[in-house]
Amino acid sequence: MIDMGINTASVMVFVSGANGYIAQHVVKQLLAKGYTVVGSVRSESKGDELKLLIQNEKFSYEVIPTLSDKNAFDAALKKHPEVTVFLHTASPVSFAIEDVENDLVKPAIEGTLNALRSIKEHAPQITRVVITSSAVAMWGFGSHFDGNKVHDELDWSPITYEEGLAGASFGYKSSKKYAELAAHDFMTKEKPNFAITYVHPTYTFGPQAYVVKDKKNLNLSNEIVNQVIKLGKDDEIPEHGNVFADVRDVAQAHIVAFESDEAIGQRLLLASGDFTLDSVAEIINRRFPHSNVPRGDVSRNEEIKKKMIHKYDNSKTRKILGFEFKTLEESIYDMVEQLDNA
Ligand code: NAP
Repeated sequence: MIDMGINTASVMVFVSGANGYIAQHVVKQLLAKGYTVVGSVRSESKGDELKLLIQNEKFSYEVIPTLSDKNAFDAALKKHPEVTVFLHTASPVSFAIEDVENDLVKPAIEGTLNALRSIKEHAPQITRVVITSSAVAMWGFGSHFDGNKVHDELDWSPITYEEGLAGASFGYKSSKKYAELAAHDFMTKEKPNFAITYVHPTYTFGPQAYVVKDKKNLNLSNEIVNQVIKLGKDDEIPEHGNVFADVRDVAQAHIVAFESDEAIGQRLLLASGDFTLDSVAEIINRRFPHSNVPRGDVSRNEEIKKKMIHKYDNSKTRKILGFEFKTLEESIYDMVEQLDNA
């Protein structure tokens, strides 16, 4: 990581979807570094709730009710001509939808394009943009899973647009791929004033940035851990695993992504290590002896790995970011400890 010697006090950063799980950590870290932050949320009540959580004068919010409105970002950007950095994290992350294309895929693509168009037309002073993509834009699932391939930052998921319409899970994966592709296409055709860096988190775990609102309903990736926490001692642990990153590392990556010139144009794969639900259960049992979760049989890990865990090499990302990633144990421990006390 290069220290750019940025005078953070004079920099205003826009964060779309500021109330999201990852975005709240991004905002928290930005404020801790002295940046001023404007976040977008979908309603005034969500904005007020967030302001109450954050309790920092350098944070304000704008309401952008829908990403799909062509001019969604115009008014907010015109109102804040001091913004020079734009972090686009907002994207549909719910599988509880009715229409895969209209509720998941299109809002992700349109939201990305509307943000980029608006920056080009109304905020020429913005020079750095970071887009939260996903590892699912880099590697394939289902029939596209390739357990022998070592994936890196140059890879694209083979999922087609049509395959993405098959259901919410594939729809989400496709939404991330096609939203990112739309951004690359925009850069080639429009040649704007700004550079983009893409952040590709794997399954993101770890504590909430502020307080836990509802410990029974966490965001989609944390619900994977929560499903283990909710199991009883004698319940069977589902066979599931993949690659994870800690949310605090994912947030820090968003900041290095615009602070470092080395990150310009790069796709950063935020992957810390493998997880299985058995490993998660084993950590919880060992670190929280009072817990009621099943013990976790880590001897199954190798088998699960062969079936569903992607191999990867993100040494390029690690070099650009220049900080050590948190381990699964740190991530799970901090998350469960926070939930225990909530
Ligand atoms: P999250 O907590 O659900 O946050 C999603 C954010 O996007 C929220 O602010 C949400 O607003 C907003 N949003 C969703 N649909 C929207 C729409 N149609 N119009 C406007 N805003 C909308 O999820 P997260 O995990 O922090 O995800 C943040 C970003 O990271 C997303 O781009 C996601 O794809 C990406 N990502 C996440 C993971 C992970 O494991 N968590 C991994 C890879 C990539 P509301 O609160 O109003 O719904």
